[in-house]
Amino acid sequence: MSLKWYGDLVSDTTMNDFDNLLANVRACRACHDLLPHQPRPVVQMSPTARLIVASQAPGSKVHASGVPFSDASGERLREWMGITSDQFYDAENIAILPMGFCYPGKAAGGDAPPLARCAPLWREKLLAQMPQVGLTLLVGTHAQKHVLGPGRMRDRVRNFRGFLPRYFPLPHPSWRSTIWMRDNPWFATDVLPALRYRVRNALQGT
Ligand code: SF4
Repeated sequence: MSLKWYGDLVSDTTMNDFDNLLANVRACRACHDLLPHQPRPVVQMSPTARLIVASQAPGSKVHASGVPFSDASGERLREWMGITSDQFYDAENIAILPMGFCYPGKAAGGDAPPLARCAPLWREKLLAQMPQVGLTLLVGTHAQKHVLGPGRMRDRVRNFRGFLPRYFPLPHPSWRSTIWMRDNPWFATDVLPALRYRVRNALQGT
């Protein structure tokens, strides 16, 4: 991948590989020509993380705050996972790596899809720095398509056991998910209890 897409590359010999990599992610400007605003990568991670929230892309509120899932979707996701905000934002345990790290702006019917440059540029490098991850939540169709290939989100969520123990597919927790949950009541009765059990175990390293 051409380095012309980067911002000012960070290579600080006083920092370890992980900190250098994260500093370069945070300085990334690869999509500056595609975005209606300045790039603002929003990620959370550490080399000790045990669980990854692989999501879609920040929305406008997260773009403004710089804090992942600091919106109604985040409240819903934490409730699904059965964890507090303190647990969710503990980077020592939980990494939050969307398919696109910057808010992609608006498109017809909602937010635009994640920037296509982001995952190929950063994802594998970052995953290589987190050897203790036991569970990855695939939140929404974009994350599922990237990791699992083509397929229907609803079918994957319904058949979540087929992706364990490594992956747990979920719908995106946007406001639309309240309608989706009403139409798919098995999600609350069958999937969420299993999700909370798997999240608890992953955070305990079991
Ligand atoms: S979306 Fe990803 S690749 Fe694009 S500018 Fe942001 S961090 Fe860089």
